[in-house]
Amino acid sequence: MNATDAKSLPDWRNSNLGTRIRVAVWLAVEVGEGGHFTKQQLRDAMPGVEQIDRRMRDLRPAGWSILTYRDIAGLAPGELQLDKIGKPVWEKEYRAAGLRVITATMRRNLFERDGHRCVRCGILAGEIYPDDTAVTARLTVGHVIPYKYGSGSTMADLVTECARCNETAKHLTSPRLNEQQVWDELVELPRKDKFAVLAWLAAGRREQSRVERVVSHIWQLPGVHREAIQERLARTLS
Ligand SMILES: [Zn+2]
Repeated sequence: MNATDAKSLPDWRNSNLGTRIRVAVWLAVEVGEGGHFTKQQLRDAMPGVEQIDRRMRDLRPAGWSILTYRDIAGLAPGELQLDKIGKPVWEKEYRAAGLRVITATMRRNLFERDGHRCVRCGILAGEIYPDDTAVTARLTVGHVIPYKYGSGSTMADLVTECARCNETAKHLTSPRLNEQQVWDELVELPRKDKFAVLAWLAAGRREQSRVERVVSHIWQLPGVHREAIQERLARTLS
């Protein structure tokens, strides 16, 4: 039996396998090259498995081509096409294929460079989302160009993102707002702010203002020091 024989594939239902491997086998067996699927189908196949979208994206740097409606015409939003099966990550020698190796030092330097905040939405580590008070932001490492995932793992290729912004693909399949709603909000902004939005979009990241930089630095202090600063500031202003 050769390695590419379908019979040699492990069973994607086996929960002892890593999620990336299960997703790869599911795609190869249930979808096949050229086949269409939705993330919901994938999630339904492996209920309760966490970060399944991310594990699917992790296949891209291993040579798997998975297209969205952004890449090709004819797909509905949320629909995906398995364009090409890449390296057989279910085989031992390919298990780590394409997985990025980001050391703790790199991560620290990256967060430092980006001011311990998400470069997409600007939220600081530990802050509560203004539109979702149940969730505090957790910082994670993302790629400068999310859809060129696997383009590289040097500092220049990476950015600090909050976990929510990092799940951009998830947002694509379940948009909370439509284009017109967002546009209507945008046109209400003063002209100066429209320029700021345009600059932000063109750069793919939000530059930190002096105010935000100071707040970010305060936020990185231990809690007692943060409280001390808050008290001092309140005294100064009273
Ligand atoms: Zn964010």
